[in-house]
Amino acid sequence: MNIILFGPPGAGKGTQAKKLQDEYNIPHLSTGDIFRAAIKNKTPLGVKVKSILDSGELVPDETVVDLVADELKKEKYKDGYILDGFPRTVVQAKAFDEFLNENDDELDAFISLTVPEEELIKRILSRGEDRSDDTEEKIKTRLEVYREETQPVMNYYEKQGKVQKIDGLGSIDEIFNGIKEVLN
Ligand code: ADP
Repeated sequence: MNIILFGPPGAGKGTQAKKLQDEYNIPHLSTGDIFRAAIKNKTPLGVKVKSILDSGELVPDETVVDLVADELKKEKYKDGYILDGFPRTVVQAKAFDEFLNENDDELDAFISLTVPEEELIKRILSRGEDRSDDTEEKIKTRLEVYREETQPVMNYYEKQGKVQKIDGLGSIDEIFNGIKEVLN
């Protein structure tokens, strides 16, 4: 099963992706986590993307697409995966479609977590993850980038009839149950 978990920063994608990973035994791939690990380990990729993540802007499409395509070739993803943070632009979505085609594979679900903007800001500021992009100013940038570059990704998948919207307000388990209902 190949799943995209979609939503703005702070919507709870990471939290739900981890729960899905445990429930269905499908690995979770978070592009944000990969970038943060690369920055922490000062790899060439990390050095390249550090200032971009710090600013709240997006890493160039080509870098992200190559990274995801490479990662998804690994054995552990052969029976499916949960994507979190990718695709984040329409260019990435199209490249991902091509990747699926080439591998004779398809997307099973596009799950969009909807959360009002005031709630997103509150959540990110209170989650205490010690991320350099979790300041009020950077959150505003990330939400703007989301509205302009990422939101159109949902229209792209809506045209394919794949979008399932889930209310992202409520307890972690309530939201998780909503996602499971959609998947079953
Ligand atoms: P959040 O959803 O809370 O903003 P992520 O961990 O998904 O956090 O992403 C953190 C940062 O990593 C983004 O602001 C961006 O700079 C970079 N990033 C992650 N995924 C992508 C992507 N698919 N395309 C471009 N940049 C990305």
